Amino acid sequence: MKLKKEKISLVIPCYNEEESLPILYKELNKLAKEMNYVNFEFLFIDDGSKDNTLKTIKNFSKKDNRVEFISFSRNFGKEAGIYAGLEKSTGDFVAVIDADLQDPPQMLKEMYKTIKEENYECVALYTKSHKDYSLLRKFFTKCWYILIGKMSSTKQVSGARDFRLMKRKMVEAILQMPEYNRYSKGIFSFVGFNTKWISFETGKRAAGKSKFSFFKLFKYALEGILAFSTKPLVLSALIGLFFCFIAFIAIIVIICKTLIYGDPVSGWPSLACIIIFVSGIQLFFFGIMGMYLSKIYLEVKKRPLYIINEESKKRR
Ligand code: UDP
Ligand code: MG
Repeated sequence: MKLKKEKISLVIPCYNEEESLPILYKELNKLAKEMNYVNFEFLFIDDGSKDNTLKTIKNFSKKDNRVEFISFSRNFGKEAGIYAGLEKSTGDFVAVIDADLQDPPQMLKEMYKTIKEENYECVALYTKSHKDYSLLRKFFTKCWYILIGKMSSTKQVSGARDFRLMKRKMVEAILQMPEYNRYSKGIFSFVGFNTKWISFETGKRAAGKSKFSFFKLFKYALEGILAFSTKPLVLSALIGLFFCFIAFIAIIVIICKTLIYGDPVSGWPSLACIIIFVSGIQLFFFGIMGMYLSKIYLEVKKRPLYIINEESKKRR
């Protein structure tokens, strides 16, 4: 009896990637030929691109029945794209990969071999050097991993990429987390399962520019902390308590001083400084609470993660 070939679904979030896609598609074809012992499904998620990304994907899809696609009604973000792709995927294994070839698809051979032979549920990649990113971005990324490591009990691997190959059961577990504020790296880690981490060197973007501005990255980093740690709330309470304690000591000192030396009207500038300082701290912590509140607000509304404008019909 001939064994049925296993299928790998590749989920590829794309936002304005018309230049990278032809290069990626060529690479994927090459890979599929080399890995002819498995079937492939290429799932392109057009995240509301404004260029010819969708047209390019449709052209692939016309000629190639391994190509499926979803096109969003607007830009919902990479996280929503990943979720939509995982939902639509049908493979026994699912891999998430960027469209810009920074993560070489060729790595998939080794990843598949590892997952099959070493009995892991997931094989993920991390990098020690981001060739394509500015020094500033590298610096902030490093600091951020140290920070999230201290703040969250969900383990986060420094330099982790989104490129990973997962077994179906892990994908199903992720799909059970349809939270609105998504931070995939945290979610991957939260669901657990045996994960093998392989180190590799990220390449340069095949074409086009990074779709993450500094502001977008900052928002994403904040998302990671808010979604996977409540420590900022505890910290603000502790610092509040500390200031109460200082104030209490100061009151006692002032009372004693007044009783001993009388009450000259002096020291108001320092008082003004203290008031401004303390109210600043209060506003800052209100801000932290507000951020959590706004996340709860969005979560409670249960808005859809994405809205589909068009998608390929399943041919199998
Ligand atoms: N991406 C997306 N939606 C967005 C931003 C990015 O689907 O709103 C996709 C993008 O097309 C690429 C992947 O996410 O395939 C990673 O983006 P990029 O390479 O720009 O990020 P960087 O490598 O700079 O972190
Ligand atoms: Mg990239």
